[in-house]
Amino acid sequence: ATPTALMAGVGRGAQLGILIKGPDALEASRTVDTVVLDKTGTVTTGKMTVTACRPADGFTIGELLRFAGAVEAGSEHAIAAAVVTAARAELPDLPPVERFAALPGLGAQGEVEGHDVLVGNARLFAERGIPCDFTAADGATAILVAVDGRIAGHLEVRDVVKPSARAAVDALHALGLRTVLLTGDNATAARVVADETGVSDVRAGVLPAEKAAVIEELRAGGARVAMVGDGINDGPALATADLGMAMAQGSDIAVRSADMVLVREDLRVVPDAIRLADRTLRIIR
Ligand code: ADP
Ligand code: MG
Repeated sequence: ATPTALMAGVGRGAQLGILIKGPDALEASRTVDTVVLDKTGTVTTGKMTVTACRPADGFTIGELLRFAGAVEAGSEHAIAAAVVTAARAELPDLPPVERFAALPGLGAQGEVEGHDVLVGNARLFAERGIPCDFTAADGATAILVAVDGRIAGHLEVRDVVKPSARAAVDALHALGLRTVLLTGDNATAARVVADETGVSDVRAGVLPAEKAAVIEELRAGGARVAMVGDGINDGPALATADLGMAMAQGSDIAVRSADMVLVREDLRVVPDAIRLADRTLRIIR
């Protein structure tokens, strides 16, 4: 492409809410055949709410919220914000957390009122050998809570799919692209989002450190991959993809690692970005 064509692409992109960091991004977007979409905060709004509190025998709802809320007050995860909001609605004064530790892709841990509290997903509890017997409602993410190594119950957290997601996925498929939903969340929650949006493939339960390896694997199989993400944990995957696209409201790391920054929250900005090079480069030639 000529410099003039590239300049036109950059200008047209800016009008559509697509910030292009360099000429290579525009070129890469023309050859992409697979689009990997992060689930939380990209396909969904990322604004989560607690929709159920299910204490185990021997615990009350208040206790479950107090322990979980206290630990999550130390975390920056979107799930943590939802848990803290639910806990504060019941108990305005949450106890402090000591020795807080974030467990990326798994949950969080800390000491509350002298008790060791663990909050997170089934994978974390399996790793720690804490037996838990529960079923989360379809599409919800279950947040398990243990106090001193014993299950205290679980909370259900839900997120909503962006209203634009279905149309965006349809547009990507109309362009002949394959779509993949990539998430650290459980397979059932991922399946519900895939069904709602029409995404063709799902890779669930992927730890933050493994996201880039999934991109690498797709590329090794011959795919030309665009990755769309927003989180701190998406940075390496965005950098590994042939075309990294970060949602502008996402983390600094995602924005820094990407080749394009998508300023519109509307997910149709993704097919717009992929069509951009084709359109502008063809018109100008
Ligand atoms: P995603 O890839 O969907 O953006 P993450 O990799 O950040 O998700 O997290 C994956 C899973 O790890 C979550 O669905 C949740 O089960 C668990 N998790 C991570 N952080 C926390 C936390 N602070 N509290 C509870 N659960 C958490
Ligand atoms: Mg995310």
